[in-house]
Amino acid sequence: RAKGSVAENIAFYEPEMDETARARRQIANDLRHAIERNEFTLLYQPQHCIATGKVSGYEALLRWHHPTRGPVSPVEFIPVAEETGEIFRIGEWVMREACREARSWPKHLKVAVNLSAVQLLQNDFVAIVQNILVETGLSPLRLELEITETAIIADKLRALHFLRQIKTLGVSIAIDDFGTGYSSLDTLHSFPFDKIKIDKSFVLRSHESVEACAIIKAVLALGHSLNVPVLAEGVETIEQLDLLRDQGCDEAQGFYFGRPGGSPSQTADSQMMC
Ligand code: C2E
Ligand code: MG
Ligand code: MG
Ligand code: MG
Repeated sequence: RAKGSVAENIAFYEPEMDETARARRQIANDLRHAIERNEFTLLYQPQHCIATGKVSGYEALLRWHHPTRGPVSPVEFIPVAEETGEIFRIGEWVMREACREARSWPKHLKVAVNLSAVQLLQNDFVAIVQNILVETGLSPLRLELEITETAIIADKLRALHFLRQIKTLGVSIAIDDFGTGYSSLDTLHSFPFDKIKIDKSFVLRSHESVEACAIIKAVLALGHSLNVPVLAEGVETIEQLDLLRDQGCDEAQGFYFGRPGGSPSQTADSQMMC
């Protein structure tokens, strides 16, 4: 066979592709029962105000403990859930669980919930959020939804319509992983955001990459000129924190402050930090 021919590639990649496809199918299948089998948990990672050091809220991060595979990363199973549509049920479970949990926290603490791009396409999503807020008794002012740039660009008009409705509930919106997508300044200023989250890839490289540092500065300038607070994610060291503070960053989140962990209502000392 000729090198690089289709036949050669198929012969070479088939077993591996087959394994990947099989794993994906199994994940898709097993995801359908994960809620009923209590295989999901939420971990909470603190978000700190840089100036005061105080915790302002927690981001809810989904964990799946698969019965045979063990822990599966959301990076792996969320895309599968988006493909199969299972994300609607999972997203609703996450939202309800996070709101129920946050209800028992001190009142000044917010909870941030990640939204999948696909959830924006759900017609009754705003009604679902509203119902969950009523059901759990959480004030809408204490809920923040994290949406990626990519999710917004996929369908700008729809996203804008959705975000406006969400905002009228009193829920706030953060733009997640900022800097990794391709949103224009125009998109940014016409959308009603309450917070910009600088992607962790820039923060993690801030000391070795002039470019990463330049992007951080640019995002901070952008946020501040739009009057939107900026949070840096992935802060692991004091050096990164100092740099962000010097540049006027408002909030920070990362292993330096705390890894994602149990609900703060269950750990007395995290309440002490507030
Ligand atoms: P994300 O929303 O950008 O969340 C931040 C990720 O960075 C989390 O990974 C968190 O554990 C990790 N992280 C936090 N601090 C640090 C740090 O200092 N250094 C490093 N290297 N990493 C840090 P995780 O929990 O694995 O989640 C990955 C992604 O999966 C999330 O990125 C989010 O896009 C998605 N995800 C997680 N939970 C949910 C969910 O409930 N719904 C949806 N739709 N997506 C979710
Ligand atoms: Mg997030
Ligand atoms: Mg992020
Ligand atoms: Mg991310």
